[in-house]
Amino acid sequence: MTASHAAAAPGSTQVYRRLLRYVWPHWRQFAISVFGMVVFAATEPALAALMKPLLDGSFVQRDPQTIRSVPILLVSLFVLRGVAGFLNEYFMKWVGRKVVATLRCEIFDYLLHAPARFFDRNASGLLVGKLVYNVEQVAQASTNAVTSLIRDSLTVVLLLAWMLYLNGMLAMIFLVVGPTLALALRYAAKRFRKLARRIQDSVGDIAHNSQQVIEAHRVVKAFGGQEYEAERFGRINERNRRQGMKLIATDALGSPVVQLISAAAMGTIVYLSTMEGMREQVTVGTFMSFVVAMGMLLAPIKRLASVNVQLQRGITAAESIFELLDSEREHDTGRLHLGRANGEIEFHQVSHAYSGEGSRVLNRIDLRIEPGQTVAFVGRSGSGKTTLVSLLLRLYDPSAGEILVDGVEIRQLQLASLRAQIAMVGQDVTLFNDSVTRNIAYGQPGDVDASRPREAARAAHALEFIEALPQGMDTQIGDDGVLLSGGQRQRLAIARAILKDAPILVLDEATSSLDTQSERHIQAALDNLMRNRTTLVIAHRLSTIEKADRIVVLHQ
Ligand code: ADP
Ligand code: MG
Repeated sequence: MTASHAAAAPGSTQVYRRLLRYVWPHWRQFAISVFGMVVFAATEPALAALMKPLLDGSFVQRDPQTIRSVPILLVSLFVLRGVAGFLNEYFMKWVGRKVVATLRCEIFDYLLHAPARFFDRNASGLLVGKLVYNVEQVAQASTNAVTSLIRDSLTVVLLLAWMLYLNGMLAMIFLVVGPTLALALRYAAKRFRKLARRIQDSVGDIAHNSQQVIEAHRVVKAFGGQEYEAERFGRINERNRRQGMKLIATDALGSPVVQLISAAAMGTIVYLSTMEGMREQVTVGTFMSFVVAMGMLLAPIKRLASVNVQLQRGITAAESIFELLDSEREHDTGRLHLGRANGEIEFHQVSHAYSGEGSRVLNRIDLRIEPGQTVAFVGRSGSGKTTLVSLLLRLYDPSAGEILVDGVEIRQLQLASLRAQIAMVGQDVTLFNDSVTRNIAYGQPGDVDASRPREAARAAHALEFIEALPQGMDTQIGDDGVLLSGGQRQRLAIARAILKDAPILVLDEATSSLDTQSERHIQAALDNLMRNRTTLVIAHRLSTIEKADRIVVLHQ
């Protein structure tokens, strides 16, 4: 973490403000949604209000006008409520989905431009989690929270206002009941969360323990560990059961308590309404309208009691996303652009350490490679051969010294321009989840004429096995495609390098997975490829090395 990053350690409001910036471009849809919320909130007290003419007018006084209009009003109110509810939900989620899509694109873009160091440090599962899960959390938590904050608080205020209008005296009761209810609900929500987390842990324990026994069943049997394992599992199982019961108890106690509080309030209202001096003021309609309004308060209060939890969850997720987006990117500040390089490479006093100054992998390397030369690098595993070519590609910047291509310090070059000069066949071949053709033409702009990947495959001696695949060059390979052997993968990587046709060729143990037979085949292809190119070969086998113009030995 850089100093500036630590200084910007965002508080909740900052995170929230930054999130709002993602919402801002969609303020129109947001406004429609808020409009829907306001109308929806207003229909709640209206429904309660309708109780009064319904009872007093239709039933008590039997007023024909009211009898006719109340049903119409009731239906119209529900139509309005339905439309408002739709606008609210649809447009709030519309904005939410937009924010999800934007955040995902930004994260993906970061991943494309993150320095190699970043991937050394972060587990891939965690990153995918951010892209998939955290983003979803942000959208859900914040749209729910915003809806709750605006719609539910407005509903509460309007219902309270209606109750006050009906009868100030009775409404006072709610000042006692409301907060009590909110506190009870809040306590329940907190306890629920804590218990749910503990249960998750204990379920994890159960899974972990049984998995261990399943995998190690031979050891358990051979060493007679059954009793020990059974006893240990019993304890974990019992703990899980107890946690589960606590959750059930909280849940089961929750609604009676809420009901009790409501009933107490209701009892008080009934008592007060029927008191001397009140009876004249409180008609049947007023009473029912009041009680209905109070009942309607329950749901929004319940949601408002947990709004903080929602917000926190969204903010935590957003914080981790922003932290990722603010991380360092690859330094692509060079402005120079090379056409096609001649392929002269110079290492000048290059030293490199991956972390700190302690362990230098490379120490003051001086090396000059003429255009078209082939240089072989040998040295024990771990001596820094791969590191050297990583520096050339600027996957890492050297700790000291400079590297020049065609006499230009590579940091002066645009990254894309530098990397366009180099075709690389690495130790581990990465195949993308795509057709053979697209894998060989990987990184080539636009639609590639299908005959070129085919020619490249032929030159790499890969065509033979490709044609044996179910759909030939169109076969899907990679993650969920056909599985290829190590040697076949390397031949595809060589074909990829042949197609790229760059002035500098890097072969980092490119033939290590090939048997002697195929290696001899490919060697011919490689010899062709290496002609007129600057080539850096890293290899164990003598056959590759003996053709080199120079041999560089790396050691401590
Ligand atoms: P070679 O290719 O010669 O086998 P490498 O260049 O891969 O050697 O590695 C040289 C040393 O640098 C090794 O000690 C290795 O552990 C270390 N190393 C390689 N890559 C990284 C990395 N990304 N982060 C930290 N250390 C690394
Ligand atoms: Mg290596």
